[in-house]
Amino acid sequence: INRSRLDKFLSERFNIKRKDVRLLLAQKRVLVDEQLALDVDLIIDTFSLITVDGEIVQNNQAKYVMLHKPVGVVSATKDDIHQTVIDLLDFPYKHSLHIAGRLDLNSSGLLLLTNDSRWSEKLSKPNSKVAKIYQVTLGNKLTNDMISAFLTGMYFEFENITTKPAKLEILSEHIARVELVEGKYHQIKRMFGRFRNPVVKLHRQSIGSLALDENLKPGESRELSSFEVNSI
Ligand code: URA
Repeated sequence: INRSRLDKFLSERFNIKRKDVRLLLAQKRVLVDEQLALDVDLIIDTFSLITVDGEIVQNNQAKYVMLHKPVGVVSATKDDIHQTVIDLLDFPYKHSLHIAGRLDLNSSGLLLLTNDSRWSEKLSKPNSKVAKIYQVTLGNKLTNDMISAFLTGMYFEFENITTKPAKLEILSEHIARVELVEGKYHQIKRMFGRFRNPVVKLHRQSIGSLALDENLKPGESRELSSFEVNSI
């Protein structure tokens, strides 16, 4: 996201002097986000809606979408073999979106997409502390020693990292609820792999305060409300 002073933006856009921008503003011809703009030093950004004499000069609205990702669809914007999550969307701006936290091909559940990289960075920063909750179905029985192993963290030699404390709750013999604050490659599968316990189903239920909307069937999506966007 680029930030800029309004007078700098307008003088560059129209190739006019700063004093002529001041005149435009004084004549009340400029609106920023539908409000009259009178200050030359107003700070605008990529997503500010700017009009001059009612004509749109900039209109890149920030967009936020939640998708119920089905199994078998790839978390990428382009793929030669599989359908992508973008293919499932119906929004005219869908090609401007990027994925805020991918899910594996055979995982399902809450996937967030946006064109606002400041927002998606908040979710995916290494120390963001945003909890992601998964329901995991295992091929073999769950055992109590897994709880402390998840909490302690596991060393992954390939990346040379130790996983952050993860909460594992045993819901039934084969079903667990796992809460992660990070997202390493195939993390949950690799953690259960240490116990030779294969993951047969992996479903993301929530990211931070945002839960997957129960009204969304696999493959369906909707825009987030501004309340939801700001709750992250
Ligand atoms: N952990 C995995 O192994 N896969 C996912 O899709 C998410 C977390």
